[in-house]
Amino acid sequence: MIRNTAHLEALLGDIRTFVRERWHPLEDQVSRDNDIPPELVDELRRKGYFGWSIPEAYGGLGLTTEELVLCAMELSQSSVALRARVGTNTGIGSEALVADGTEEQKQRWLPRMATGELTGCLALTEPEAGSEASNVQTTARRDGEHYVLNGGKRFITNAPVADVFTVIARTELGSKGSKGVSAFLVERGPGLTTGEPYRMMGQAGSFVSDVHFDDCRVPASQLIGGREGTGFQTVMKVLNKQRLHLAALCTGPAIRMLDLAMMHTSRRSQFGQAVADFQLVQAMIADSRTEIYAARSMILEAARARDLGEDVALSASMCKYFASEMCGRVADRAVQMFGGSGYVADFSPIERYYRDVRLFRLYEGTSQIHQLNIAKLALREAGMR
Ligand SMILES: Cc1cc2nc3c(=O)[nH]c(=O)nc-3n(C[C@H](O)[C@H](O)[C@H](O)COP(=O)(O)OP(=O)(O)OC[C@H]3O[C@@H](n4cnc5c(N)ncnc54)[C@H](O)[C@@H]3O)c2cc1C
Repeated sequence: MIRNTAHLEALLGDIRTFVRERWHPLEDQVSRDNDIPPELVDELRRKGYFGWSIPEAYGGLGLTTEELVLCAMELSQSSVALRARVGTNTGIGSEALVADGTEEQKQRWLPRMATGELTGCLALTEPEAGSEASNVQTTARRDGEHYVLNGGKRFITNAPVADVFTVIARTELGSKGSKGVSAFLVERGPGLTTGEPYRMMGQAGSFVSDVHFDDCRVPASQLIGGREGTGFQTVMKVLNKQRLHLAALCTGPAIRMLDLAMMHTSRRSQFGQAVADFQLVQAMIADSRTEIYAARSMILEAARARDLGEDVALSASMCKYFASEMCGRVADRAVQMFGGSGYVADFSPIERYYRDVRLFRLYEGTSQIHQLNIAKLALREAGMR
């Protein structure tokens, strides 16, 4: 649903200009320094980019799902560090509060997340709870007016720079699976420590690390929604929206890589003609352009359905699966179209994009987990299971 076309066009134009004029010239530097210049993060704060999906009542832009995915496709036509920096606040870092927080919890944290004063993150995954996310071992024991958290989280995006953590922990000690699990909003403070940022295959400038809880006392008022045992339902709400968001964030880099590849093949001449004029190269352009179009179309359709209040569990999973795999295929073709220059960092940004986008097929549900989920929901929809 698009609420106001003129406002949205203005925002999309602003993002486009920012990405092309401010971010693209800095991509190499961000990758080299493995850091985003603080003044650029401040600029993102001033622009309100941290608050896209936070409701207007709490200081955000209150984008609908359709507006959010359109903005995400624009912002992500860049190296992944950019959207990774703002993306947890516009997605998994704030969404549990937006979906299930009490009014008091929303008032307390969302306005400062919307301005980017606070950076949020989602701490779900653990060493023994990856694809099997419900195997959460982190415990939250009630002690008077507090919960005491113990355990550890792994692979948490933005943990090293986060101020607030949405933490999924087991409140019913001894319970198994998704039952007895609750969601908390935990502020950085005593008992919570984050590890050193990992050394990763790609996405330089984006920080990911472990999170440790060592008798971390959290006021009971920070139990999201004020009810124990509903943490997994909250996470599923977050992920259903986030899968559409992430699918859009997979589409932007594919658009950028194809743009770069078309530019390169149009200028690069071999055998007396531009390589873009060879039909075998054109096949790679055609396949990439077609798949980008398919991803964009399905994401927009699912986003509109979500805005209408429809259940998008199946379509969101299909979008994440298709868009992340599509992006991987486009990255591979882009390397091919650039030839040796696609492999050598000195000659093109394509090798960096290729490494950056590899993660898309792993996090927020691996492709295999989405295949299983899609089949399960499709069979159920057909009344056969
Ligand atoms: C850089 C990075 C950032 C991340 N950010 C976050 C974050 O912000 N918050 C957060 O909570 N998590 C985050 N994650 C965690 C991410 O979601 C998990 O890594 C992912 O869910 C996979 O879990 P795993 O790594 O333990 O792999 P595993 O579950 O060990 O899977 C290993 C392989 O086995 C396959 N497999 C597993 N189970 C099945 C099955 N039943 N059938 C078929 N194949 C199967 C998988 O598809 C995969 O190929 C991040 C991960 C990374 C690497």
